[in-house]
Amino acid sequence: QAKQQGGNQYQFYTTAFNIGSSDRLALQSSLRHALERHELLLYYQPQVSLKTGEIVGAEALVRWQHPERGLISPDKFIPIAEETGLIVPIGEWVLKTACQQTKIWQNAGFSHLRISVNLSSRQFSQIDLRHQLVAILMETGLDPKYIELELTESMLVHNTEVAIRRLNALKSLGVEIAIDDFGTGYSSLSYLQQFPFDILKIDRCFIHKITDNPNNAAITKAIIEMAKTLNLKLMVEGVETESELSFVCQNQCDGMQGYLFSRPLPSHDFAQLLKNNKRLPLPINSTK
Ligand code: C2E
Ligand code: MG
Ligand code: MG
Ligand code: MG
Repeated sequence: QAKQQGGNQYQFYTTAFNIGSSDRLALQSSLRHALERHELLLYYQPQVSLKTGEIVGAEALVRWQHPERGLISPDKFIPIAEETGLIVPIGEWVLKTACQQTKIWQNAGFSHLRISVNLSSRQFSQIDLRHQLVAILMETGLDPKYIELELTESMLVHNTEVAIRRLNALKSLGVEIAIDDFGTGYSSLSYLQQFPFDILKIDRCFIHKITDNPNNAAITKAIIEMAKTLNLKLMVEGVETESELSFVCQNQCDGMQGYLFSRPLPSHDFAQLLKNNKRLPLPINSTK
């Protein structure tokens, strides 16, 4: 099975849920070399303003181009990277590559382009994350105000005080903090409001459910209202249909990401969207 060529991802995905221990070890040890062998790459998913329809930023999403298994999704290897500690060098590479790329695009004329980078739990609790970020800012010359670091609830709830201190230390560099996949954890927004977030990303499951029944739409509206009360910018993930788009426009969210506009793209293809000035057509009666 390990010998199957790329393109045969289905084979991999179906077995990945119960990877045998030897297979897992094989994956672990090849992940160890993935960085030095340049097998990791970043895709970029456009983030679009719901006020103008323009691309305002990108979320960097890592992939692993495995020589035998093909393109492996982060859901499959980030957990292994977390367990083995490999997430530390991988996370540093992601942050640096994303910042370098964004600086290149800014220099090419897209001077206000923003970049969102996901942090994993182990990376967030790493003592020298702030130093790492400072070094990357110096090296790439990217203005920190264009950087958003995405965290999830589960990374914050264990030791609240320490987490708040770390967030403030990162924010003092000028970066913004986003709470990702909001609503999938167990904490309420009123609990989370003690953390210094700038942006709330509603998990895509809420958006998909809105058309199912009115209760789901009501719950999603309540989250949106609460985020506004707390002065958080609202980014909606996973918008796939026109009706989902009208919903988020009617409820005055700030931005969207989703297949309706674009899937995550290799850097070259993302650059093409920028150059073509691709815009999201907004529903007519949604303008505020
Ligand atoms: P995430 O940060 O919540 O990223 C959004 C995921 O939703 C991405 O999956 C994206 O491709 C997918 N998505 C975006 N729009 C749509 C849509 O309209 N419909 C559907 N069905 N899906 C959509 P992806 O790229 O497979 O990443 C999965 C997760 O892996 C990410 O979830 C994030 O938690 C993690 N991840 C990705 N890159 C990194 C990284 O560099 N570092 C860390 N620590 N985690 C990462
Ligand atoms: Mg994210
Ligand atoms: Mg998310
Ligand atoms: Mg996620």
